[in-house]
This record gives sequence, C-alpha cells and structure tokens, in this order.
Amino acid sequence: MKSFQARLASAALNCSAAIALLTVVPQPAGAQPGAAQADDVPVEAAPVDDAALIRAAESGDEWLTIGRDYAETRYSPLEEIGTDTVERLGLAWYYDTGSLRGLEATPLVSNGVLYASTSWSNVFAVDARTGEELWRWDAKADRKRGARACCDVVNRGLALYEGKVFVGVIDGRLAALDAATGETVWDVQTTPVDQPYTITGAPRVVDGLVVIGNGGAELGVRGFVSAYDADTGELAWRFYTVPGDPSKPFESPALAAAAKTWTGEWWKYGGGGTAWDAFAYDPEAGLLYVGTGNGSPWDRNVRSPDGGDNLYLSSILALDADTGELVWHYQTTPGDTWDYTAVQQLTLAELEIDGRERKVIMQAPKNGFFYVLDRLTGELLSADPYTKVTWASGVDLRTGRPIETPHARYGEALTTITPGPNGGHNWQPMSYNPDAGLLYIPVSENSFAYGHDPDFEFVPRAWNLGIDLASSFGVDTGAESLPESEYGPGTGESVGVASSLLAWDPVAREPRWRVLHRDETGGGTLTTAGNLVFQGTDAGRFVAYRADTGEKLWEMDLGHGIMAAPSTYLLDGRQYVSVLSGMGGAGGLYGRNPTGQYKASGRLWTFALDADADFEPVRGIEKPPLTAIRHDAAPGQVARGAELYGERCSMCHGINAVSGGTIADLRYATPETYEAFDRIVRQGAYEGLGMPAFSWFTEEDTDALRSFLLTRREALMREQPD
Ligand code: CA
Repeated sequence: MKSFQARLASAALNCSAAIALLTVVPQPAGAQPGAAQADDVPVEAAPVDDAALIRAAESGDEWLTIGRDYAETRYSPLEEIGTDTVERLGLAWYYDTGSLRGLEATPLVSNGVLYASTSWSNVFAVDARTGEELWRWDAKADRKRGARACCDVVNRGLALYEGKVFVGVIDGRLAALDAATGETVWDVQTTPVDQPYTITGAPRVVDGLVVIGNGGAELGVRGFVSAYDADTGELAWRFYTVPGDPSKPFESPALAAAAKTWTGEWWKYGGGGTAWDAFAYDPEAGLLYVGTGNGSPWDRNVRSPDGGDNLYLSSILALDADTGELVWHYQTTPGDTWDYTAVQQLTLAELEIDGRERKVIMQAPKNGFFYVLDRLTGELLSADPYTKVTWASGVDLRTGRPIETPHARYGEALTTITPGPNGGHNWQPMSYNPDAGLLYIPVSENSFAYGHDPDFEFVPRAWNLGIDLASSFGVDTGAESLPESEYGPGTGESVGVASSLLAWDPVAREPRWRVLHRDETGGGTLTTAGNLVFQGTDAGRFVAYRADTGEKLWEMDLGHGIMAAPSTYLLDGRQYVSVLSGMGGAGGLYGRNPTGQYKASGRLWTFALDADADFEPVRGIEKPPLTAIRHDAAPGQVARGAELYGERCSMCHGINAVSGGTIADLRYATPETYEAFDRIVRQGAYEGLGMPAFSWFTEEDTDALRSFLLTRREALMREQPD
C-alpha cells in the first residue's frame, strides 16, 4: 500500500485539478462583504481531496464526511456557539425536503454548499448561508424494493470527493453526482438485483476509493463491502463478511478460516453479517474499519444448527484499505442469535489507558457492551455494559468472549432478553469530545421476547428470522413464556426509561452523566469545543447540553420529530448548526410518534446566534374518516389473519395494525382499498408505492388478513367518539 506521506503528497498535486472541477457557487443576493463574487475569479474553493479528508478534524469550517473526520468523532472545534452564548441561538433558515419518510442523514458542508440525502436516497444541495435550493437529484429508486428495507427507506448520508457527491441508493446502486450541478456522473449496481439487498448507509472515500456496504440480513442475504474507483465507478475490491457455499472456492483466506466456525447449510440462508452503517479509517495505518451485522436468519439454530461462532457476524473488522484484505477482527457477539449487530458507529481516538497512550477504536454495539480495542492490533482493552444487559453477565477480557447467561440461547418458549433487536444503541450516531473525554451515546433500554419458530420455512426475499415474530409482538398464538425469574443474572444498570443520552467515560469505563428522555426518544448527537452536546428527539425538541455536566442550556420546540444527528460549520465568521427532522425508521413504521403527525414531510433546520426566523409548523396529512365496512369472518379467520399480519406485515404497517405514522395505517384504508385488497396484497397493484406482492399467499390468507384488519378498524371506531 502507498505510504501515508506519499498519499498526502499526491493529494497536494491533485489540488489544482480539483479546483478546476468545481464551478462557482451561486451567491445569495447581498452576499457578505469579502465573499468572492460570482462574475469574478472562480471561488478559491478548498477541494475535497485526500489531504482535506485526512486533515478534516483540524478546522471546523466545513463538515466534509458523515462522521466529520476519518475518526468519526462528530466533534467540531468551533466554539462561537458555546456555554456562554448558546442561549442566543435561534433559527436562521429552514428548507422543506418534500420527502415523506424517515430522515437520518447528517448534512455535509463544503465551499458554502450544504448537501444531504432524504428518503428513497434522493439528494439535495442548498446554499449553506440561506437555505436557497441549488439542485435536487432524484435517485429514481425502484420502489418495488422499498419493502426490502427492514427499517424504512432511509439514507444516512453522503460522501464528497474531488467535485463529486456519492450516495448509496436503497435499491443497491452507488451513484456519483457532479457536486456543482447534481447531474449523475456514474451510477453502478453494487448488489445482485434478484436478491433483497438495500443500501441505507453513507459511502466513505478512502484514498480514491468509494467504500459502500449494504443491508438485508432480515431477509436472507450474504453481507459484503465493496470499494469503487471514485473517478470511474469501477470495482476495486470486495470483501464478503461471511463464507459462501463451501463447495465453491472461498473468495479469501479469511473466509476459508471463517467457514470452520459455521455448521449445517448456512449459505442457503444467506448468513447475514451485512455492513450497513459503520466505517472508520486510520490513514496512517492504512486500515479501514468495518462493523458487521447480525446473522441471517436471527436464530442460530436455523442457519448453523450445530453451533459455532459464525465469523464474521457482529464483528469489528480491520481491512487493508487498498486491497480489502482482512488484517484483524474482533467478534462482539459470537454465534449471534439476537440480531445483535456491530454496525453501530466506530470512533477512533488516542486514549491514555493504564499509563500508556493507545490508539483505540470504540463502539457501543446493539448488544449493550461498550468496547475499547487497540485499533492497530485488535486487542480488547475493555468491555463494559452501558445499559441493562441480560444475555451476558460480562465480557471475559482474557478471552475476549461474552459470558452468556442461562437461557440467553432461547428455545421454543418465549424468553425476554435485554437488549432486544433495537439494541442498547442503534444507528443514531454517538459523538466523542476529547476535551471532556466523553462519548455521547443515544442509549435505548428495551427487551424482546425471543422464541424459536418450529414451523419456520425459508421464503426467498421475505423476512426470514427463524423466530416466532407474531408471538414476540404479543399476538396470542398460544406460545409459552419462560418466567422472568429463570433468565439468570445479567449486568449493567437499568434506568427504567427507554431512551436516554449517556455521557460515557471510556477510560474510567463508567457513565459520567445521563439525561433521561421520559416520553420521547433521542436522535444522533454532535459535540463541540464550545463544551456542548446537541441532540434532537422524536417529540420535536432540539436541545443543547453542557458537554462536561449534562446541564440543559438551550432548547427549541420544532414540533417535528428528529432522529438524525446535527452537523455544524462556519461561514463568513458565523457558526451554524443544521439538523434534519422527519420521522420514520423502525420507530416510524411500527413504533410510536409523540408528535402524532401522520405522513408529515421532512425539513432541514439551521440555527445561528442572534437569528430569529419564524417558521410554519410541519403538518402531516389528515387521516381519512372511518366508515363501516361489512365483513363476515369464518371461525378462526381473524386469529389466522392476526398471525399472518404479525409475521409478514407488522414490521412496516405497525404492531397489531397501529402504524407509527410514517406509512399507511391500514385501519384507515378506504373501502376501495379493501375492495382491491387481494390485488394489492397478492398481485402487487401498489408496487409502485413500495407495497410488495406477497405472491405466495393464498386467497384464504388475504381473506384472513382482511378480516383481522377490519376487526382492528372496528375496535378503533368503538374507541373514537361519534
Ligand atoms: Ca438486523
């Protein structure tokens, strides 16, 4: 691989070429004095090249990558907005994205332009001073494939490099756009189109290669990471995260080794291990870090019936960034059977541990333990519960393995385990403030009733978990539960509240402070040299806390749910903070929306000191009136419909047909929709809207589903006053 110095030098040589690629950024009317004039010389725009990306942490002026720097700290050195001034923070401008599904992207800022992605992988660019739209790019995603996204058609963000914007598209494409015009430069399919892969994560650019992962482990795919030439879109390398069919040659020695940790005929089920979010990069070591996902199906008994660790599921991988070869790995959850992905954010730092300066990589994956590893060797330095955990009583630092509790490996009896598939921490980004020495983690305390489904059959391109999801979601199917007293001892503190903002000290290995979100859920975080942490909530509050103590210093009620992480930048000497609001994701589909909005559009909000722009509230659409629809259900039909619904419909339309507000609440469907029910469900009449065809259902199945839904509608009508 090229040396670090050589890469910096070659990056410097590319500077002038990159400037030529950038066209003039349009200036708003009354542009600031001193700003370059449009009809003057081209803007002396700093190009986003290797050198700029490597040095991104040094200046707070721009926000060039999703995690702000290769270390993915989400820490800005800006301090104009600080503990003494934040009370003067107000709305500078806002921009309506027009999207109707969840927004999870962190905005990027370069040369006075703010770029972000929205649902269905669409992209927009606005003037970062005013919010004036410069261009929009429609990904023209294949909407038929929308339901393959386990957790909404979200997109977590973009990458910038040498005049291009890169975006992963929900249908598996990777596209390069002209940063100045939004026109497509190249567009490649990165996944097999006949398999249920999706892309929701942001690309990263390392040394001229665009790195992209994918998702789909709930539906039966095999995970991999690809790197494409940023100029041409040509595939440079691909690393599969789990072994394929052993009768064919393994793609790498790492996979031959991994295959020894699998049993049965795992490749027929995909295996999982998808890398759908976290990457980090150490340019000096030339190592690209990748977080991998859960097993597919969830239940290990199905995919690997005689046990095994199932490498490289739920792992942190260090790959040679130039070749994609595996250098080291650490598996957080050997033999995953709980959907414990390790794709949660990876953050690099230099920490003094036991008197030694260590280059570390840190992660708070779904399984509830906070990990600190030596990022050059993969040596485990510490692993401590950052939330309540009942599947393991700790991690043995000598072997690096979790100490599983009795019954953690559930059988057919429903067993409630903490954390559940939502994880102690999910995709919502954490941030690391080196001044305070703390990480700010959006923590979730949740449990789930796991139970093996003895009737499981693999259905290609459908949800394939191997567990009895209908029983887990509380549909009465007669399944037995294991009493709570039999779970065995776990570890970690229960705070008794589902969502909290946790300030975690990775050296002391303990919480420093915590903010409990009683009836709301916190989104991603940003921290700054102004000793601040910013976080929004799904109740629509945008809040600033003191980074060292957690004291709340400022908040604004935006009235619109926030999941995404904010970013910050400096233009004309003024610091701005930007965040996207827009509910969706798993919570917006089958969770609950505290603002009560139904199908509301998304918005980008930008704040600055002494700004006081007014805003129109974000409004959702009115639900249609409920009119009686006659139906006659045969005995047992409603129960059969409830079971089918729990297994196949609840993950999009909500548990027991109560929508989280992002997509259709079927209790409110019109009589015409119920008239066309069989055509929609079995024949795909609404595929263009994202509703897939359940072609293997029988007519009896759709009748049963319809009866169940109309029963739920009647229950709602009884609850509502006339
Ligand atoms: Ca998963």
